[in-house]
Amino acid sequence: MNYQTELENYIQQHGGRHRLALHSCCAPCSSYVLEYLTKYFDVTVFYYNPNIHPESEYVKRLEEQKRLCGLFSVALIECEYNPDEFFTAVSGLENEPEGGKRCEKCFELRLKNTARLAKAKEFTLLGTTLTVSPHKNAPLINEIGARAAAEQGMIWLPSDFKKKNGYLRSIELCREYGIYRQNYCGCKFSNR
Ligand code: SF4
Repeated sequence: MNYQTELENYIQQHGGRHRLALHSCCAPCSSYVLEYLTKYFDVTVFYYNPNIHPESEYVKRLEEQKRLCGLFSVALIECEYNPDEFFTAVSGLENEPEGGKRCEKCFELRLKNTARLAKAKEFTLLGTTLTVSPHKNAPLINEIGARAAAEQGMIWLPSDFKKKNGYLRSIELCREYGIYRQNYCGCKFSNR
């Protein structure tokens, strides 16, 4: 399935500037995604990433996310940072390779809780920046995201942002704005 084409179809069919709750993992991944989506949606970034370790790294990524949101005039909601939520969710999967079962649980935790928080703030449309990464499984992320949205009675915005040079553009934007690009995915297990 071509998720980026699905996204374009959604934009064509629905028009207007709908409010979008966008889960973001970090500033580098959200750079191109914000450049693209802010043309069509009234975007609010939800920064919910209890997977990031250590806390100093979490704060560093959050500060970069705030700076980027400022550049695009986008609202940011900083969600609770409780690493225990992540460690509980991936318990028993610590030694999985990157891209394996641990990541599936990590996506599920982040997207389900973001959906719940966004629903409480009366958003009806949910999306994520996660699909810009060439290291992540876009079909799996879309499947998990669609389930998380449906559980809250929300609509999922499909995407595969790395397509159509999206990933390359995110690198260009990071250079242009001097955005900090981390060298590991985020969790303790991806940083060993
Ligand atoms: S490698 Fe990345 S996606 Fe996988 S569990 Fe760690 S932080 Fe989550």
